[in-house]
Amino acid sequence: MYDIIIVGGNLSGLTAGLYAAEKELKIAIIERHKKPFSPAHCGEAISHITAKILRINERNCPKNDIRQIKINMPPSKVFNLNLSSDHIYIINRNYLENNLIKEAKEKKIDLFLGRRMIKFNQPNEIIMDKNEKIQGKIIIDASGITCIIGKQIGINTKLKPKDIGICIQSRVVSKYNPKKMHMWWGEPYAPLGYAWLFPINENLSNIGIGIIGGQKLDITKLHQKYIKKITKNKYKIISTFRACEPMYKPLEQIVKDNILFVGDSARLVDPASGAGIHNAIFSGILAGLTAAKYIKGEIKSLQIYQNLMQNKINKIKKTYKNKSKLTNSSKYNKTFNRFFQTIVTINKIYPNFYQNRVTKLLEKDVKKIEFLKNINI
Ligand SMILES: Cc1cc2nc3c(=O)[nH]c(=O)nc-3n(C[C@H](O)[C@H](O)[C@H](O)COP(=O)(O)OP(=O)(O)OC[C@H]3O[C@@H](n4cnc5c(N)ncnc54)[C@H](O)[C@@H]3O)c2cc1C
Repeated sequence: MYDIIIVGGNLSGLTAGLYAAEKELKIAIIERHKKPFSPAHCGEAISHITAKILRINERNCPKNDIRQIKINMPPSKVFNLNLSSDHIYIINRNYLENNLIKEAKEKKIDLFLGRRMIKFNQPNEIIMDKNEKIQGKIIIDASGITCIIGKQIGINTKLKPKDIGICIQSRVVSKYNPKKMHMWWGEPYAPLGYAWLFPINENLSNIGIGIIGGQKLDITKLHQKYIKKITKNKYKIISTFRACEPMYKPLEQIVKDNILFVGDSARLVDPASGAGIHNAIFSGILAGLTAAKYIKGEIKSLQIYQNLMQNKINKIKKTYKNKSKLTNSSKYNKTFNRFFQTIVTINKIYPNFYQNRVTKLLEKDVKKIEFLKNINI
């Protein structure tokens, strides 16, 4: 019997496993891909606080420090947001996740890579392909948008098309200012969404688009059009990946009996921007620590995970409510126009005001991790 079984071996699952492993428990991670993050399917943009939590520097993970965000809004607005150094990075998730897997092996976590969870028999049994069965005292669902355990225990995990982000992204070789991120909100490239170029270095970028589902649009064509425009038609595509993201409210209960839900599986993505890395690792760490401390008898209930995440859940719910009002392009463009205009104006008067606010918010998460590490009740 394992102490903890984690289904999904990407960012949220791996961080959950690594933090739980600090308590020297018997842990298994099941991941259906042999290499969970290949090819790249994420813009890989994170804040410096997320980088700190991920120990990007200690892990020698390549990072590109962004100094400016250029935002185009229809019909012809352009916003330039200057950033102080070391605020936003484009990291290399392939490198990072390979490292996390290596560390998981060193910590004696049983990694079932290239294996799929087929069935969950409550309360403890996981059945994998080849009919292999394993049991775990605590189960962590880190399966991303599929929320496979949630689905099997009867939680309504269905997402309406309007609550799904439909994305396509390519790794592209092209010359571009490596210090400048570019985003194009709304038409003509990304109606009810945005297109992005996040530079990895001066010759390589993640170029993608993400739009709200249910629109009858050819996303491949829109993506091609944006790549051509932003690279001035000088580019070479290395890889392309399509993926979906939950752009919805978090699950009401992210703790259910002996099951914890983390990352995209718990729908912890920001429904306005699609950013999910920070919440994936934050929830993964809290869930891993909670499960391990519970097994060790250092805490009496798994509910502490829900309590520590509740503010974040409420905030995402609020964003979702506001975002749901933007039902057409006119409302969408008007709202984001106003939003970016406000940020740029405030930043002109108080440089870095907005970045510092985000930093303060994320620092609260660092404190929560420290709090959970140290409690013993
Ligand atoms: C195109 C795109 C760009 C993005 N860009 C950014 C960005 O720049 N910044 C940002 O903050 N966020 C970004 N995000 C969001 C971010 O990538 C996700 O929120 C984050 O990766 C979620 O991590 P996760 O571990 O929770 O889920 P996932 O990464 O979805 O991992 C779930 C894992 O579970 C595995 N799995 C699923 N079912 C099973 C099963 N039955 N058996 C075994 N394994 C299973 C899957 O193979 C997968 O590896 C982007 C998302 C997309 C789609």
